[in-house]
Amino acid sequence: MQYVSTRGRAPALDFEGVTLAGLASDGGLYLPVEWPRFSHAEIRSLRGQPYWQVAASVMRPFIGDSLTEAELNAICQQVYGGAFHHAAVTPLVQLDEQHWLLELFHGPTLAFKDVALQLLGRLFETFLERRDERLTIVGATSGDTGSAAIHAVAGRKRSEIFMLHPKGRVSDVQRRQMTTVRAPNVHNLAIEGSFDDAQAHVKRMFNDGDVTATLNLGAVNSINWARLMAQVVYYFTSALQLGAPDRKVAYSVPTGNFGDVFAGYVAAQMGLPIERLIVATNVNDILHRALSRGDYSAGGVTPTITPSMDIQVSSNFERLLFDCGGRDGAAMAAQMRGFETSRAMHLTNAQAEGAAALFASQSVDQIETARAVQQAYQGAQQIIDPHTAVGLGAAHALVAAGAIDPVVPIVTLATAHPAKFPDAVERAIGVRPSLPSRVGDLFGREERMVELAGDYATTRDYVLSHAAGSKR
Ligand SMILES: *Cc1c(COP(=O)(O)O)cnc(C)c1O
Repeated sequence: MQYVSTRGRAPALDFEGVTLAGLASDGGLYLPVEWPRFSHAEIRSLRGQPYWQVAASVMRPFIGDSLTEAELNAICQQVYGGAFHHAAVTPLVQLDEQHWLLELFHGPTLAFKDVALQLLGRLFETFLERRDERLTIVGATSGDTGSAAIHAVAGRKRSEIFMLHPKGRVSDVQRRQMTTVRAPNVHNLAIEGSFDDAQAHVKRMFNDGDVTATLNLGAVNSINWARLMAQVVYYFTSALQLGAPDRKVAYSVPTGNFGDVFAGYVAAQMGLPIERLIVATNVNDILHRALSRGDYSAGGVTPTITPSMDIQVSSNFERLLFDCGGRDGAAMAAQMRGFETSRAMHLTNAQAEGAAALFASQSVDQIETARAVQQAYQGAQQIIDPHTAVGLGAAHALVAAGAIDPVVPIVTLATAHPAKFPDAVERAIGVRPSLPSRVGDLFGREERMVELAGDYATTRDYVLSHAAGSKR
């Protein structure tokens, strides 16, 4: 399988190439040149298989010649047969007749990002060994990516990681899950400013010749195609359990950078019958405005009780716009250049209509979020985290508005364990969720991080002077 950039000028790469490259050299994002299609019979044949086997089957067409059958199977078995604390990896829990939770938080850092990053850590090592290379991973996190990436890379031989987080804007649990990892190949950078500022630094570093001349840079943000690919798998496993391909399922996805919900879009392109994908946002609602009115314009970021969704610019949205807009790289590049100058753009008719065929959207404020936490607790004795609650609140709102048929099962992606955000949960229901014992004495261990000013040069210079993985 070959991959092309959304901006049309970067060279096409195979799976190994896009995994190691992350962002394309023209500033765009990689997508497979075409979507693999599964027939209903092929989808049915996945029923009842263990998670790791479904993972290998769903990912196989995207990987092409980059891994042999045996290599892919071994990696899937190692990752999904061991690193998760539930035999089903991503179990489904029923809330009531229509609503289900897909628990994605049984990995080492208690959020869905482990599902993909545990795989990515292994893919990196496999490809780097083969090439006899080293990789310097630079990433920005609004909380959960950072800890999941650090746990995926810590102690590995050929990769090191510099993780930027907006200082003071991630929860104590999130920060400690990053800063208490003691491996020498892990660097935590607390940056003044918002997540978007930190992410802008990362993007710029990938286009900075001084950096790319010395370091072999890798990305772990959801701009990395391999992460999205890994997330496609749980749409298949959950839909299969609810009767796919013979029954349609809807999903409600707490959304920030548009990675997780885009994986649902990919599943639909592959032939999984998905009734609707609900893009659930908090009050930082650029995606809701874009999908409901075509208005993609960035404002400031409002901090909320769902910090992993406190985002104004959603990188992966470009992938959807490219795919729905006729896959015209030159037009996409021009559209994004306009957006980067004015911080606003309008969706074209093709983009708006393409998105409307599958997506619905809803913005959920803090009061509605707290109410969804209460409803899950009172109605089904489930303690859910606030991000999950944004998804559930959006699902309830759209059912109430008649936008989703009451006979269609709706799966809300439970993106984090409630103990990651204990204050907001306790305020809503008066119960403080406790950390599962597998994370250990997170609050007893020493933290390691450096604090940096918010300008780009400070971050770049720090990375250049502390990286071990020089090309020379
Ligand atoms: C990252 C994250 C999100 C947002 O996911 P995207 O793929 O960025 O849209 C939602 N909830 C939690 C808990 C997260 O960690």
